[in-house]
Amino acid sequence: MSTTRKRLFIKTYGCQMNVYDSDRMKDVLTPLGYESAETPEGADLVILNTCHIREKAAEKVYSELGRLRPLKDEKAASGGMTIAVAGCVAQAEGAEIMKRAPVVDLVVGPQTYHKLPELIAQAHRAKGEALDTEFEVEDKFDRLGSDRQVEGYSAFVTVQEGCDKFCTFCVVPYTRGAEWSRPVDQIVAEIRALAAKGIREVTLLGQNVNAFHGAPPSGREAEGAWGLGQLVRHVALIGGIERIRFTTSHPRDMDEDLIQAFADTPKLMPYFHLPVQAGSDKILKSMNRQHTAEEYVAIIDRLRAARPDIAISGDMIVGFPGETDADFEATLDLVRRVNYASCFSFKYSKRPGTPGAAMFNQVDEGVKSARLAVLQELLSDQQAAFNESMIGRTLPVLFEKPGRMDGQLHGRSPYLQSVHVDGPAELIGQVGEVRIEAASRNSLSGSLTGSKRSAA
Ligand code: SAM
Ligand code: SF4
Repeated sequence: MSTTRKRLFIKTYGCQMNVYDSDRMKDVLTPLGYESAETPEGADLVILNTCHIREKAAEKVYSELGRLRPLKDEKAASGGMTIAVAGCVAQAEGAEIMKRAPVVDLVVGPQTYHKLPELIAQAHRAKGEALDTEFEVEDKFDRLGSDRQVEGYSAFVTVQEGCDKFCTFCVVPYTRGAEWSRPVDQIVAEIRALAAKGIREVTLLGQNVNAFHGAPPSGREAEGAWGLGQLVRHVALIGGIERIRFTTSHPRDMDEDLIQAFADTPKLMPYFHLPVQAGSDKILKSMNRQHTAEEYVAIIDRLRAARPDIAISGDMIVGFPGETDADFEATLDLVRRVNYASCFSFKYSKRPGTPGAAMFNQVDEGVKSARLAVLQELLSDQQAAFNESMIGRTLPVLFEKPGRMDGQLHGRSPYLQSVHVDGPAELIGQVGEVRIEAASRNSLSGSLTGSKRSAA
């Protein structure tokens, strides 16, 4: 195995699961002598870890490949540049990518990136043949192991992959395959290793994370598969881990045990991302979400009863086929009832191969844009009001790095808000109490109350 130093540039698009995958690709490539570079100029290997969720996300990849072409030409005289496309565009388009963008040397899907070393060697031997988009999740995690290179105090850990829900707008079931959960022992080993490297906060990831049903820890086989609530409580016992989060959940997979975990596990942060997508039952049905608006609100009510300080975030789509003004009003009503701390909102984007793309009653782009503007104004007001409601409260903040000003620290509140405070650098990596004195749309500031909790 060659250990000559080589420069690796990875560009990550899309969700947190791609961020995790990019980190793991670095882990796989480090033994081959690859070191991370900040820019693609002069890199020996460039990986675009792509997202296929909306049309724009996929098109961005092709524009980026166009920009990489001259860099690859320049590098030809000094060892050459290998260009790889990974992630969901790779999975969805496979060999088509190399046809449309001959600058690409290899294509690797989200379930096979542990084979990057072999694929790179193959690309160097026979261009155009290095392609692997199989679904073999188990093998991937076994091969990746639990040792990770990490920086900072917060890390993502994939615990579940894939989706069987088949929402009619979504490509995920086609690009990420069927639902599958990692065994609890394997997850715990990875988180223990992260804690030993200074990680204080873990976010458990899955396309349908609350559908988690992992093999129980060895010796407890009789208990059957563990749900996410059990996993969260188990992770809370790992020394050094101060904060736990998980994302993304589906309303259909909410069970009482998970709601109870918010009540009985203080390390589980009181901030919950539960996408609903629309407020009209007609649209929810046509999206195949398999629940009503009322059922969604009932879940939020139960969560708020279990953990009164919980804040809710979500995802919304406007302009799904057949959405009328009245349906859109129902979405606005739902948003008013839930009162989100933050919420992502998107215009519906037709994805090839999904049932939504073939629906006849597509909504005009202009109507979608107008509805999105109205929705975003409401959501932005709710977010600002939520941030302002923090003023006067004392919040535990995990300090992550120095702030922009001298003597300043930057950290995150339990609600993932950015918090700026004057304080000593030795607090970085610890949780300290901050009295919030000011709020803007995107951040909070305040002063240390003097009480600090060591995170170690
Ligand atoms: N599994 C999660 C769930 O059930 O809500 C969401 C996963 S998806 C990666 C993230 C978000 O992208 C979705 O919640 C949805 O709002 C948005 N999204 C997915 N497909 C879309 C499409 N075709 N057009 C617009 N937004 C889309
Ligand atoms: Fe996509 Fe629906 Fe699965 Fe979420 S639950 S990943 S939106 S198909």
